[in-house]
Amino acid sequence: MSKRNVLITGGTSGIGLGIAHSFGKAGYNLIVTGLEANGADIAAELGKQYGINTLFRNDNLMQPAAIETMMQAAAEWGGVDILVNNAGIQHVSPIAEFPVSKWDAIIALNLSAAFHTTRLAWPHMQAQQFGRIINIASVHGLRASEFKSAYVAAKHGIVGFTKVTALEGAPYNITATAICPGYVKTPLVEGQIADQAKTHNLSPDRVVAEVMLKKQAVKDFVPVEVLGDLAVLLAGENATTFTGAAIPVDGAWSTQ
Ligand code: NAD
Repeated sequence: MSKRNVLITGGTSGIGLGIAHSFGKAGYNLIVTGLEANGADIAAELGKQYGINTLFRNDNLMQPAAIETMMQAAAEWGGVDILVNNAGIQHVSPIAEFPVSKWDAIIALNLSAAFHTTRLAWPHMQAQQFGRIINIASVHGLRASEFKSAYVAAKHGIVGFTKVTALEGAPYNITATAICPGYVKTPLVEGQIADQAKTHNLSPDRVVAEVMLKKQAVKDFVPVEVLGDLAVLLAGENATTFTGAAIPVDGAWSTQ
């Protein structure tokens, strides 16, 4: 059987790029999306490295109309068999000072975009009786931290959305799972180290040791390769019953 098509939002950076490498290595064709200026080069390089077909898109996923355009392009390319909703942003601030525009942006990208990609990928998945939807949530989909109101709300929301998607997908062999990582050292987290240093009035090194990894029993950042391998497992042809779960990969943070 020819390998299936995987669409990874935010597939040109950080966790998404790590997941793209894992699927590429396994021979899947890839649609990677992202706002990185060198995104087209990244997609072409993945294609060359793994001998797979790739497509790059740089649509702004905070806008439902742009998501429709992207999903139309993906449908014309062959359809999305495996959807990885990964693109996300963060903003750290106390609630009273939280900029309303940041709240709206985080909800739009980290939560609503996954609803739009899912609803638009659905008809193709249902028709072929196969679909795998993998939402990159966070340990913050299961636990809260102060100063992250919008992010925690969006990530708890995506865990709930994943459960409903699993229920509605079950009759059609469409699965939905949420991966809930602890801290992964990506450009998003590099930005957070700087933000938290300011909020907590600490040096960047102390933020990593005393704030970020404090709640993880394993005091290491989560490697992207582990998340990529897990995503490939969840996308498998025989993974039909592996659905509805929110899977922590968080160094035992969510045990307490
Ligand atoms: P990253 O900043 O490295 O990558 C984010 C990606 O999203 C980029 O490709 C970026 O271009 C894209 N993006 C940003 N705004 C966009 C927009 N408006 N439209 C379309 N694409 C947009 O971040 P990351 O750390 O790899 O995070 C990826 C996902 O993993 C996010 O959902 C994040 O919440 C989640 N996560 C990250 C961590 C971590 O520690 N890094 C932990 C748990 C969960």
